[in-house]
Amino acid sequence: MDFDLYRPLEEHDMLRESVRSLAEAKIAPHAAEVDEEARFPQEALEALVANDLHAVHVPESYGGAGADALATVIVIEEVARVCASSSLIPAVNKLGSLPVILSGSEELKKKYLAPLAKGDAMFSYCLSEPDAGSDAAGMKTKAVRDGDHYVLNGVKRWITNAGVSEYYTVMAVTDPDKRSKGISAFVVEKSDPGVSFGAPEKKLGIKGSPTREVYLDNVRIPADRMIGAEGTGFATAMKTLDHTRITIAAQALGIAQGALDYAKGYVQERKQFGKPIADFQGIQFMLADMAMKLEAARQLTYAAAARSERVAAGSGKEDLTFFGAAAKCYASDAAMEITTDAVQLLGGYGYTRDYPVERMMRDAKITQIYEGTNQVQRIVMARNLP
Ligand SMILES: Cc1cc2nc3c(=O)[nH]c(=O)nc-3n(C[C@H](O)[C@H](O)[C@H](O)COP(=O)(O)OP(=O)(O)OC[C@H]3O[C@@H](n4cnc5c(N)ncnc54)[C@H](O)[C@@H]3O)c2cc1C
Repeated sequence: MDFDLYRPLEEHDMLRESVRSLAEAKIAPHAAEVDEEARFPQEALEALVANDLHAVHVPESYGGAGADALATVIVIEEVARVCASSSLIPAVNKLGSLPVILSGSEELKKKYLAPLAKGDAMFSYCLSEPDAGSDAAGMKTKAVRDGDHYVLNGVKRWITNAGVSEYYTVMAVTDPDKRSKGISAFVVEKSDPGVSFGAPEKKLGIKGSPTREVYLDNVRIPADRMIGAEGTGFATAMKTLDHTRITIAAQALGIAQGALDYAKGYVQERKQFGKPIADFQGIQFMLADMAMKLEAARQLTYAAAARSERVAAGSGKEDLTFFGAAAKCYASDAAMEITTDAVQLLGGYGYTRDYPVERMMRDAKITQIYEGTNQVQRIVMARNLP
């Protein structure tokens, strides 16, 4: 399929408008409270499920909306524009289930994608461990074959939406001598005996998205819950990140757009020296730079989404790894700068929780850290230069 980057942008305008109005009506009103109380955004989950926006990437053949990578980006972007925590519902549903979509058996796809598409179950992704972050291949969680089963033992750390999700893609060592080639991926269910969760982390931002440890204590699961062949789990995990780093870029774009939109309105209203501060050139130049950086980040993200779609359709060029890392790195750095500038534009008021830009600046920070820190993205880019 020949992918024209600009045609889908027009086609996706209606999707953006409808997600924006839903997000403003049903998600935005709860965003400050969700952050303040560090509680799961249940209202957002219900609104997203009611409108079939909670896991748009699931193919139609498994009961999903079958949205392409760009449409998925637009959904995440628009939800993040009003509430970053809520945007992790569609984003992590994709992250958790993409290993099954990319490498799982037909039986696994049927069993786990249908409830996800219906909104009956969420999916999480368990790669990181207390002592294996950037060096994820150094993980210690083990899966040992026992007849028709595997028995899993270990601790996964920093797992987004842990406790809320029904399903978990877990990467575990099946052959300790082979390092990354000795890692396999499995679907673990919340109700599997031996699965439990740590206390929610007390975080700087995205406070509405629970981040918890997942404990696997002699978790015995059928061998057919393995995703792909034994030893391919790490490769599947990395392939997944090539696609889903673009959703983190989308989250960064949304947070930055929310901050820019708010600051743009504020500077018209706020008067100093007898006129709106928007009349000062020093303010105008800041807004121009913010909008320029945001638009550059958006174009890179959409270009990466086009590559993700081509690769998913089997006709892709092999530069998705570079583009996924570049989009995530560039958009998250831009979001940090733009949200910091938005706080600056509101002066002392921007530094308080009475205004949303303070939350947006805290939320932006995580996009530079997860799915690989931005130092790691630069390593990935350097190894995969186009
Ligand atoms: C809120 C939150 C949600 C998360 N959600 C998930 C999730 O759902 N699933 C999951 O599996 N993981 C998740 N993570 C984990 C996240 O991906 C890791 O935190 C991240 O990969 C970094 O690992 P680390 O925290 O162990 O940092 P470390 O690897 O210890 O890094 C510490 C510092 O050293 C730098 N560094 C490390 N190695 C190098 C190098 N070779 N060169 C240069 N600099 C280097 C890092 O960039 C960083 O600045 C989440 C994390 C957070 C905070």
